[in-house]
Parts: sequence; structure tokens; C-alpha cells
Amino acid sequence: MARGKIAIIGSGLIGGSWAMIFLSKGYNVSMFDVDEVQLAAAQKKIPENLKRFESQGNLRGEISADEQIKLITFTSDFAECIKDAIYVQECVPEKLELKRKIFEDLDKLCTDDMILASSASCIASSRFNYGLKHAKNMLIVHPVNPPYFVPLVEIIPSDQTRPEIVTKTRQLMEEVGQAPITLKKEIIGFALNRIQYAILNECWNMVQADLLNAEDIDRVMVHGLGMRYAFIGPLETMHLNAEGIVNYCDRYAAGALKVSETFQPPPLYDIPTAEKLNEYFSEHIPLEKLEERRKWRDECLAKLAKLKKEI
Ligand code: NAD
Repeated sequence: MARGKIAIIGSGLIGGSWAMIFLSKGYNVSMFDVDEVQLAAAQKKIPENLKRFESQGNLRGEISADEQIKLITFTSDFAECIKDAIYVQECVPEKLELKRKIFEDLDKLCTDDMILASSASCIASSRFNYGLKHAKNMLIVHPVNPPYFVPLVEIIPSDQTRPEIVTKTRQLMEEVGQAPITLKKEIIGFALNRIQYAILNECWNMVQADLLNAEDIDRVMVHGLGMRYAFIGPLETMHLNAEGIVNYCDRYAAGALKVSETFQPPPLYDIPTAEKLNEYFSEHIPLEKLEERRKWRDECLAKLAKLKKEI
């Protein structure tokens, strides 16, 4: 059943999630971290999480939690971690100099066909792959939190990444049950954050204009747009909401442009507005309840993921 070896560099939130995703499909996973305390914590937490998911009916893959747990090893030796790996997923903190150092080290130890992927949220790989012999093997593979329940993965090659590395990465992501998209070239914010900030900017501007309160703004997504976006995207929505997308543009483009022309410039997410919003959040989700709310969110996402598989 065991398939091949995956190396995970960094055993924090995202490293742990990637590990569980690869384990679910029977890959051998080797996890490395410079911080031994953190590594020991991951060694305890990953099996606990897998057992909990199993008991809740949320475990991914066809093999039991016990079988998955047998496939992971933890090491403080970088070279041992990546030795014989077919795919390396870097998950260290979002600091350019740290990413550069890891990819310099990988460059020295990797083989010519190893895929070297970074989980970076904002840093394009061209910012840390310059001058490296294996820059052609390097790319961004950006997950969405929590990756175990939200399958989207953004694949962003640099202009040096070999096309077959992109193709193989996309195939691997599909195989382990993620939903990859491929950007044709690097752009700041990739795709998800560009769309996310467009939404957030309009929410922020509407709060600043005192048009509606925090609760009602979030309701627009939770009970409105979000309901349909879990199943059909904004472009398909255009197609379905008229007699096809061309007819939609015919009917609604002028109206949409009129609304869009009233948009304010992108706002800075300023502290006075944040404090105003926090009056609502501190009452409804106080800081000491954040963890509880995150667990609830993950359980909801797990149920939604199950529903999406059924339909
Ligand atoms: P984290 O702080 O939870 O974990 C980072 C881990 O890297 C820690 O265990 C730390 O000990 C380890 N580390 C630090 N230096 C190291 C080194 N030189 N070698 C090996 N390990 C080292 O961070 P995270 O939230 O897991 O984020 C990791 C990456 O994933 C970042 O680039 C982040 O932007 C990206 N990301 C995060 C999220 C999110 O929501 N947290 C979502 C998508 C992508």
C-alpha cells in the first residue's frame, strides 16, 4: 500500500495538515523541524488528530488511523528527512530569508526529479529560487486553512519551473484529494487572496460608511453568497442567473458597472474601524472562546466536505 516518500519541512499547523493529507493516501511521510519541542508536540498531536477524526467519521482515505500513523516518522536531521523523497513540502514561517535558506539547503541535497514545493502564502518562489541549480524543480503549493477540510490548493510556478513539475504536482494534489488550481504566472496575492481582499475591502468600506453592522455584513456571505459559492463559483453563477453568461452580460453588465463605479479605493484595515467591529465580536466570540469556535468551524467544514462528496 505504501506509495512513496513525502518530506515535510516544518511541523506547525500547516506541516501537520499536509502530513495527514499525504498519510490518508498511504504515502510515507517524514517530518523535520529545527525546534525539537515543536517536533515532539507534532508527534503527539498528529496521531491524536487522526484518531479523533476517525471517531468522528471525518478521517480521510481508505486506511485506518492506526495504519496511517505507522507511515509517519519524525526527525531532526534535514538530510535524512528529504533522502529518497519524491516530493518536499516546505512549511516554515512566512519569512523570506528563512524560505531562501531552506531552498538553498534543498538545492544541495535534492535529486533532479524531486518536486520542491513551498506552502508560502504571499512569497512567490522567484523571490527565493534565484541562482539555485534546482530552481526548475521549485514552485509554490499554497493550501487554505484548515487544509484537511478545505481542499483548494494554489499551484504557482515561477518562470523557471519546469512544466512537468507543475503537471506532476497537480496530479499528486488530485490524487491525495485536494482541489488544485494552476496560476499561469506569479502575481502578488495569488488567486484566493486577491478575491478574498476584494470582498474584505468592500465589507470594510461599508462599515466605514456606516451602512450596516458587523453581524449583517457577515450574514451576506453566510446566508447569501457563501451558500451558493460552496457549490458553484461566481462565473457559473453568471451563467445560471440568465440564459447563459453572454445573456447575463447583455442584461446586467451596465448595472454592475454602475455599482462598481461607486466602489471606494482599497481601504487600510485601520484600528479605529477594527475596534468598532470588535465591540460586536468581543461580545459574541470573546478571545477565550476562539479555540472553541475554530473547532466548531472545522466540524462544519468537515460536514460540508462530506456533503460535497455525496452530491
Ligand atoms: P507555524 O508557525 O505553525 O509552523 C512553522 C514551523 O516551522 C514551526 O514548527 C517551526 O518550529 C518550524 N521552523 C522554523 N524554522 C524552521 C527551519 N529552519 N527548518 C524547519 N522548521 C522550521 O506556521 P504555519 O501556520 O504552519 O505556516 C507555515 C507556512 O504555511 C507559512 O509560509 C504560511 O504563510 C503558510 N500558510 C499558512 C496558513 C495558515 O492559515 N496558517 C495557510 C496557508 C499557508
